[in-house]
Amino acid sequence: MEEDCIFCKIVAGQIPCAKIYEDEKVLSFLDINPISEGHTLVIPKAHAENLWEIAEGDLAAVHRASKKIIQAMKEVLNPEGVACLQLNGRGVNQVVMHYHLHLIPRVKGSDPLPVSSWEIKPGNQEVIGRLAEILAAKLG
Ligand code: AMP
Ligand code: ZN
Repeated sequence: MEEDCIFCKIVAGQIPCAKIYEDEKVLSFLDINPISEGHTLVIPKAHAENLWEIAEGDLAAVHRASKKIIQAMKEVLNPEGVACLQLNGRGVNQVVMHYHLHLIPRVKGSDPLPVSSWEIKPGNQEVIGRLAEILAAKLG
């Protein structure tokens, strides 16, 4: 448990949440500022700030749980789709520094989600190709 981490406090039961799922490694609850009906967060119980830091077992557990949760969402909310969003770092607006996966259902007839409706513009294929080579070499 990390001092001053709001999600660690939720895991410890020191702050209430609208819990929807729990297992040995994972907790899931509804977002307090939903951007759509059913906006849910899935977190590891063990504190890790982001994707760089989270243990692989916790990462797998969060994503396994997300599959169960969106099945329940499908039956309860009948969404047209569910956006999965996970932010790493203050530079991309991560606000709570405890890993969390957003599950954001979009119910039929509601506004398009800002997180899934960006403008499509072709990139520079040369730049894309060069960067792919550099990253692939790191990963090879
Ligand atoms: P971000 O770090 O930008 O990915 O988003 C943090 C998310 O946590 C936001 O959507 C907040 O509304 C949500 N949040 C912050 N505090 C709570 C809380 N006590 N209970 C539920 N959701 C929370
Ligand atoms: Zn934490």
